[in-house]
Amino acid sequence: MPDGWMCARNDRCGRRKETGHGSVKMTEEQKEQFIREIPAVADAAALRETVWINDRKLPFREAPAPITDAQIQDAEDRLERFAPYIAAAFPETGDGLIESPFQEIPRMREWISRHEGTALQGRLFLKRDSDLAVSGSVKARGGIYEVLKHAESLAVEAGLLRTTDDYSVLMEPRFREFFSQYKIQVGSTGNLGLSIGLMGSKLGFHVIVHMSADARQWKKDLLRERGAEVIEYASDYTNAVKEGRTRSEQDPTSYFVDDEKSEDLFLGYATAGKRIAGQIADAGLVVDRKHPLFVYIPCGIGGAPGGITYGLKRIYGDDVHCFFTEPTEACCMLLGLATGCHNQVCVQDFGISGRTAADGLAVTRPSALVGRIIQPLLSGDITIQDKDLFPLLRALYQTEGIFIEPSSCAGFAAFLMQDRMKEYIRREHLEAWMPDAVHVVWATGGSLVPEETRKEYLGAMSLA
Ligand SMILES: *Cc1c(COP(=O)(O)O)cnc(C)c1O
Repeated sequence: MPDGWMCARNDRCGRRKETGHGSVKMTEEQKEQFIREIPAVADAAALRETVWINDRKLPFREAPAPITDAQIQDAEDRLERFAPYIAAAFPETGDGLIESPFQEIPRMREWISRHEGTALQGRLFLKRDSDLAVSGSVKARGGIYEVLKHAESLAVEAGLLRTTDDYSVLMEPRFREFFSQYKIQVGSTGNLGLSIGLMGSKLGFHVIVHMSADARQWKKDLLRERGAEVIEYASDYTNAVKEGRTRSEQDPTSYFVDDEKSEDLFLGYATAGKRIAGQIADAGLVVDRKHPLFVYIPCGIGGAPGGITYGLKRIYGDDVHCFFTEPTEACCMLLGLATGCHNQVCVQDFGISGRTAADGLAVTRPSALVGRIIQPLLSGDITIQDKDLFPLLRALYQTEGIFIEPSSCAGFAAFLMQDRMKEYIRREHLEAWMPDAVHVVWATGGSLVPEETRKEYLGAMSLA
């Protein structure tokens, strides 16, 4: 990424006191000031669901583009090179391009309209990354991409592989043997670990996943069953990442997938843009000024929704309106963007717990890399309470027969906040076009959830 691309000075965050741990502590005074000046931050601190509208969004052509189209193309090409291997190693992927269905969910739209007492304007679609092959979540995009890229670099450097080869040779035992000399480590709330672990182990790597306290037991069990090593922590995600990074740095054979600042993860997610654009066109949908596209993506540390947003903006520019969605108890990206403090702020600074039933989103400090790239592009950030996730989970299952995990349900947050969303629609002068809008909820995970746990979720009124 070129130096100096960050044109906007971080004026809001102001000077912060260093604690000496590379992090900064927000003073009580600064916190009170943010709460006074930014209504969405006041809502967040009071644990109220809210809509934060990004007042620093720029017209697309004026927004800095620190990641080039050529870089995204390079990632797309790499995924194509690996397709013959993936097809052989994971036959369920068909052609070896890991991709998910895109479908209209009209019965869910009806349910929302009935439930909210107001007809939802426009059509409603679901991008089913919950059904992505191999790891059953959006992390199959970024996580698997980064593992493949690392594997390719090692094999090419060792003279074992040329980028013009048919990569199905990677199925040969000599490659497993070669990769088994190397470790890959990652910190995870669950799904990133699953992606890295399932793909890394398949290739032959020794994968070590550092799991935060939020990670579900079944995710740890599945990883161990597939040969990955799982280290459990009683602390949160930020700490699991730190531990993993430290251990990896001490071992020259180890590579660390760094969710807090990995450009490769970001690129893997960004390739989703062109993929879904093809599906949108195939569905006969038009996207332009008079047919606005709204995309809602659940956000943890920001990598997945950030990369996807970036990829979509490169294609649709001002005609796509991207929103992140977060649990009220873990709204780190909202705080990072609204205050301009990015990774210099964590939810605990505002007395927010970071604990949520949306385990994939249980992140307390946002990515600085993503926050800064996305600041001029993102439309806003919407929060949802845990108690609202489960009725959505059940409704989608009952109306459309689609199961997704609680984190994914956060993608529906905008429809519970339609009054507040109107402010955005007014500001963008979209009122007249809303009947022709297309809403896409990005379902980020679910297909690997075991039967037992599914029943629990489908039966739960709320997770108290
Ligand atoms: C990880 C994850 C997200 C968000 O991705 P981030 O990169 O952490 O922002 C959303 N949904 C699910 C199910 C996830 O596992």
